[in-house]
Amino acid sequence: MSNLHTVLENISRAAHAAGRSPDEITLLPVTKYYDLAQIQELIDAGVTHMGENRPQQLAERAQLFPHINWVMIGRLQTNKAGLIARHASECQSVDSLRLARALDRRLDRVLPILLQVNVSGEESKTGFAPQQVPEALEAVETLEHLDVRGFMTMAPHSDDPTVARKTFHELRELRDKLAPTLPELSMGMSGDFPQAIAEGATIVRVGSALF
Ligand SMILES: *Cc1c(COP(=O)(O)O)cnc(C)c1O
Repeated sequence: MSNLHTVLENISRAAHAAGRSPDEITLLPVTKYYDLAQIQELIDAGVTHMGENRPQQLAERAQLFPHINWVMIGRLQTNKAGLIARHASECQSVDSLRLARALDRRLDRVLPILLQVNVSGEESKTGFAPQQVPEALEAVETLEHLDVRGFMTMAPHSDDPTVARKTFHELRELRDKLAPTLPELSMGMSGDFPQAIAEGATIVRVGSALF
């Protein structure tokens, strides 16, 4: 049995605690750890969008479950851009202009994307540095097959919940300052989604808490 309903309840609770409507927050179930039977269970429970962090696995699953919207959330090498152009309904992990251009060249439709921002500046994390975001927005706007919908980030691993919250706060400030019309902020995972919701997340990507 999945914990989908518990996760949805916890999202709802976090939204109310933040004075927000739960309708403003979309759960993106992340299926990278799970097998096909578990994916089927999520589908039976009404899930329509699923996140994967490896292009090959996303492509395989998109062929097995073509009616699901498969969302790319992980690091993507430019030589795998074709897989995502063919099989993903959205890519939340566009972390360089080189990747943006590679996706654009391989697409024959418009792909919604988020720019991944490395807010915390950790070396191990990919993404645009905050100061690169204005230039990235300008450049991506000229690419006809990409539709920038907002930003994605990952918080540093920490036992101190205020660390994640600060990262989420900074992403929201960046959006409000540079691109207030972009609607989406994808931030928050199993361990930190309440803090992300408090800071304005519109998409939370939850994997390990689902089963
Ligand atoms: C795996 C993954 C998640 C989900 O992480 P959990 O901690 O398992 O909820 C979210 N975002 C990205 C980019 C991931 O790779």
